Amino acid sequence: MDTTPALMQQDPKDPATWPVGRAELVEPLVRRVLAPNPSPYTFTGTETYVVGAGRDVVVVDPGPVGSEGPYLSQGHLAAILATIGDAALAAILCTHTHRDHSPLSRALKQATGAPIVGCAALALDDDGPRADAAFDPDYVPDRVLADGERISGDGWTIETVATPGHTSNHLCYVLLESGALFTGDHVMGWSTSVVSPPDGDMGLYMQSLQKLYDRGDAVYYPAHGPAVHNTRQFVRGMLGHRRQRERQITRILEEGPAVIPAMVERMYKGLDPRLTGAAGRSVLAHLEDLLRRGRVSRKEETWTILA
Ligand SMILES: [Zn+2]
Repeated sequence: MDTTPALMQQDPKDPATWPVGRAELVEPLVRRVLAPNPSPYTFTGTETYVVGAGRDVVVVDPGPVGSEGPYLSQGHLAAILATIGDAALAAILCTHTHRDHSPLSRALKQATGAPIVGCAALALDDDGPRADAAFDPDYVPDRVLADGERISGDGWTIETVATPGHTSNHLCYVLLESGALFTGDHVMGWSTSVVSPPDGDMGLYMQSLQKLYDRGDAVYYPAHGPAVHNTRQFVRGMLGHRRQRERQITRILEEGPAVIPAMVERMYKGLDPRLTGAAGRSVLAHLEDLLRRGRVSRKEETWTILA
C-alpha cells in the first residue's frame, strides 16, 4: 500500500500558504516541518527536515525553543516526533548554532535518546567582543562532524560539507542518494544570508559559496525559504550580488571617507527598518574583508579607501 502523501506545493511569496507544524514530503527520502517562528530574519520560520523513509531517520535543524509568541516550540517538537513516527531517530544534525536552529535539539534528544551530531559549539564571550545574542550558548554536541565525514542508516547516507562564513561553525549536509544539499543559512531560498562579524566572515563566506558552485548539487533545501533547484545559477547570482555590494562600498569610499550608517543608507534603499542593524553588520563584514586584503583602512568608525 502506498501511504506516501502527495507532494505539497505552496506559494513561496505568500507565507500564509506555508503549512506550520505539518510534514510535507519534498522528495522520497525528505520531509519538511515548518516551525512557528516567522520574522524578518527567518521568513516563514525555520524549516526542519526529517531524512529517511525506513527503520531510522535523522533530523536536520530541530529549531528554536520558546514558551510564548512566535517561538512557541511545544507544537513543533510534537510535529517532529509525529513525523519520525515509529522510526528510530539515528541522529539530530545541526547546521550551526543560531537560536532558530539548534536549541530544540536538547528536548528532541531527551524525548528520543538520539545523539546531537554535527557542528561544533562556539566559545563566544558572554559580554566580550565575540558576544552575540543570536547564538545558542547551551548547545553541546555528542559528536562533531568534519568536512567529508559521513553517517548512514537504513537507505540513506549523509556527508558533511563544511561551509564557514555565515558562522564559523556552519556545516551543510548532502544526502548522497539524491544529491540534495541541506544548506542551513549558508544559502537561503528567500534572501541573502546575514554575515555578521566577528563570527561571520565574508572572505570565508565567499569561499564557501564558491565551494558549493564547484559541487553543483542537485537541489538545495535551506532552513528558510523554498527549495532551490537551479543551484549553480542561484549560487552564481549570490556571488555576483556580494561582489556588487563590495563594488558599491568601494565606490562610496572613492568619494571620501565614510561611516557605516551612511553607507547603509545609500546602499539599501527601501530596507525594512528592522533590518538596518543586520545590513550594517553585512557592510562591516565586507569592510573587514577589504581591510584584510589591504584595500581600505579604518580609523575608529571611519573607513577610507587605499589607492
Ligand atoms: Zn543563522
